[in-house]
This record gives sequence, C-alpha cells and structure tokens, in this order.
Amino acid sequence: METLLLLENVSVKYGAIEAIRGINMEIKEGSVVCLIGANGAGKSTTVNTIAGLVKNQTGKIFYDGKDISKWETDERIKSGIAISMEGRRIFPDQTVYDNLLLGGYTRRKKIKELKRDIDQIMDRFPILKERANQLAGTLSGGQLQILAIARAFIAKPKLMLLDEPSLGLAPILIKEIYKMIKDFHKEGMTILLVEQFAQYAFSISDYAYVLEHGKIVIEGKSEDVRNNPALSSAYLGE
Ligand code: ATP
Repeated sequence: METLLLLENVSVKYGAIEAIRGINMEIKEGSVVCLIGANGAGKSTTVNTIAGLVKNQTGKIFYDGKDISKWETDERIKSGIAISMEGRRIFPDQTVYDNLLLGGYTRRKKIKELKRDIDQIMDRFPILKERANQLAGTLSGGQLQILAIARAFIAKPKLMLLDEPSLGLAPILIKEIYKMIKDFHKEGMTILLVEQFAQYAFSISDYAYVLEHGKIVIEGKSEDVRNNPALSSAYLGE
C-alpha cells in the first residue's frame, strides 16, 4: 500500500502550551487508522493540523507525496481531505437536505449520483430523512453530529478525518456510524479515526496510535495495541 499521509516531527504550540510534540505518523492508502488518547492529549490538534485549521511550527505534512504544510484548508479540502467536526460547517439556515447536497457539491459533478448517495445515507439515518426539509439550525446536538458526518462522507473524500464521531451519541447511532465507516473503507476510502474510548475503533482499524501529553507513546497494528499491557485500561473503558 502507498503512503497517503505522512507526518514528520510535527509540533504545535498554543502560546506556551505544547499541544503536540514531534509527532510521526503514517497513513497508508485505503487503510483505517485510529488515534486514541485522553482529554487534552492533542488528538483534535493533530486532526486540525492535518486539515490546515492549525499550523504546525515544526516538521512536515506530506499528502499524496506533496508537502502540504503551508497549504490553506480549502486547498487541502479540494485535494480530497475532509474533516467532520461536531456541528461545525453546517449551515443552520439551510435544510438538512440542502446541507447534504452542499456536502457533495465540492467534489461531484453528477447530480443524479449525488442524490442517490443522499438517499442511501438518509435510509441509514432515518432521522435525517424525517427532518430532510427542516432547517439544520433546529436539530439537536446529536442530530447535528450525524448530519456533519453524513455530509463529510457524501463528499467522498480521499482522506476522511473523523474527530470523535461517537462522542455523546446513543449506542445505536454509534453502531450506524461505525457501519458507515466500514462501508466507505470497503469502497477504498482512507480514514483517520480519532476516539477517546477505543473499543469500537480498534475493531475496525488496521493500525493504531496512542497519544499522551502530545506524544505518540504506543503504535502498531490495532490488534497488537489493543493487547499491549502498557495500554491504559481507560482507553477501553465506558
Ligand atoms: P479533547 O478530547 O478534549 O478534545 P484532545 O486530545 O483533542 O482533547 P487537544 O484539544 O488537541 O486535545 O488539546 C491539546 C492541548 O492543547 C490541551 O492542553 C489543550 O488545553 C490545549 N489547547 C487546545 N486548543 C487550544 C487553543 N486554541 N488555545 C490554547 N490551548 C489549546
């Protein structure tokens, strides 16, 4: 498998706070990689840095063989990187359906195909179908989260960055989201899955990284990391 994303010695500081310190990561094309860690370990900073929402002070980020460290977020999105952040980037004054339509707009040409994909996603999440004509601004936090994730998938990115997709959701919705991740992985999508609790993430990922205080402390095949005695049971909890 080819390398799709490579982080070399990437560090990010917010003032005096060192959020991530000299991170090295590799994501092979077509794989699912999970990044786990406790609150404040630097998971969101890592994802936001890959998406260009935060700039790295040291190191380099290579995507598809190109150094994208200096690229703006929109250039990264155009080249196939998508980030689903909780509720953000959703247009509250547009309907749920139009939000889904807009999600596919950037990367798709055929409206027919796009509408078919939206129908499929709405079948999976009946809540989106029921509320298709409702303004997104009227959705609950959990519903917004589903919409944000569904929309990111509809764009069919080459690299999908999922930041704690299961956070605060009911188990039944978590299962649906993980099913969706599996399906898109089967279709060849490369996925970086960030989670605080890893029991689901280990089961669908090929490779895992564990972040503590801004540093990668354990990495390896998900199966091995899950059974690594050095892994804090806190990550398996809930
Ligand atoms: P969480 O699960 O709570 O989102 P995380 O693993 O994603 O945690 P980050 O959000 O990346 O961790 O935060 C890493 C460190 O950087 C923390 O100490 C946090 O307080 C700090 N931090 C994050 N964002 C900012 C910011 N915009 N300004 C200042 N400090 C920040």
